[in-house]
Order: sequence, then C-alpha cells, then structure tokens
Amino acid sequence: MAIRVTIWHEFRHEKKHEHVRAVYPNGMHTVLGEALGKDPNLRVRLTTLDDPQHGLSDEILDNTDVFLWWGHGHHGEVEDERVTELQKRICNGVGLIVLHSGHHSKIFKRMMGTTANLKWRVGTPPDREVLWVTKPGHPITAGIDDHFVLAQEEMYGEYFDVPEPMETILISSFTGGEVFRSGMTWTRGAGKIFYFRPGHETFRTLYDANYQRVVQNAIYWAAPVAGGKVPAAAPHSKAGWIDERLAAAAK
Ligand code: ZN
Repeated sequence: MAIRVTIWHEFRHEKKHEHVRAVYPNGMHTVLGEALGKDPNLRVRLTTLDDPQHGLSDEILDNTDVFLWWGHGHHGEVEDERVTELQKRICNGVGLIVLHSGHHSKIFKRMMGTTANLKWRVGTPPDREVLWVTKPGHPITAGIDDHFVLAQEEMYGEYFDVPEPMETILISSFTGGEVFRSGMTWTRGAGKIFYFRPGHETFRTLYDANYQRVVQNAIYWAAPVAGGKVPAAAPHSKAGWIDERLAAAAK
C-alpha cells in the first residue's frame, strides 16, 4: 500500500519575495512534491498555511502517514488546537519530518520540549555546506556516499537546543568553522521524527538529488508500522493484568 505523504508548507516567502519566487516559482513544496511523486509507492499531497484550518484539517490528519514540515516566518499563526491534533497523530504512529527552519515550528518544539534555538548566518556569498554521514548503513542515508556537498546554503551552527537524539545520521560543516547535527532521529510514543537541516528558501537545495534521496528515504523510515499504536489508557487492575485476562478468557 502506498505511503500517504503530506507536505505542509508555509508558502508565504514565494508570494512575497521576487528573489524566492525566482528559485521556486510554484513554491518549494511543489518542487519536492514533484520529485517524491515519481515514486509510485508514495501518494503525495500538498497543503499550506493559507489553506482551511492551516492545512491541518482532520481529513488531512487522518489520511496522512508521514508529514513533511517547512515553515519559517509565520510559525505563530498555526492554531494551537491543530498542533495538538497533529501531536496526537504523531504519538500514535504518524511520521514527522521537519525541514530546515521548521526547527522553530510549534509542532517541532512541542515534540522536543525545548527551545530548538540554534546559531545561523545567511550571507554573501552563500555558505558551502558539507554533510557527512555519521551512521553508515542507516536507511535514511541509503544510496548516499560518505558525504555530499551543497554549494550554496545558509549556515546553522551548534548549539542546537534539542533533546539528545536517538541517532545522529548527518553532521554538517560550514566555511566559518561551524558544525551542526544535520540529520537526527527521535521517537515519541509510536511516532518517528526526523529533523533534516538544509533547505533555505533562496537556494536550490530542494532540487538536489542527494537532498531528495534523504527525504525520500526518511519517509520510508518514518512511515507507521501496522498496529503501532500507543495502547489506550486502561482502568485500574485488581488482580494483575495477565491473570485478569486469562480469567476473562476462561469464562
Ligand atoms: Zn533559512
């Protein structure tokens, strides 16, 4: 069965800024959607901040296996109640892939429980990012060499205020000497979360084949496992869980 992927995109910079529109005429989400849409096992849907219920209606939430999230300047506009509903889905197995400046999104901070602050610099000329694979053999870096280079990116530097990840898969270096944990994983309840650093809106990163491969791999990694749900809260047991169930079965 196909994995149902929803790309949530803020989609404001492209409308407001000519220099962003020049790189992504139909939006960053469209470029990523077209790339991922070539995989017949993925059913890709696009949704944006300006859609009804900020693109997070129950209908969308209930029909998504993996969410991709790119936001930057308008995190605060996403309604808290919708974030809570999304959080519930993630804890019950829906995957979350947070891209670049999505680190300050409500949903990512909610799932992390920290500020998710970091150092950043976007300058002229743009920075060169080298992403080094620090966990060879991990499914998210399948098909990726020991490193790949993005010629033009924005620098993010440590300290990145997130909880210690389950896995650190990629580390980036930048020309200013900074380093950054660019690919990290966590789980929350039954859900899997991947943060992937690159993807500034004025650079062509989302067209990059290695970038697209990592995102595609991450979708497969983050997809829900059949039956992978957090059990519903259960009432108090008087006789011990197993004995009680055996007694009920014997009746
Ligand atoms: Zn950026």
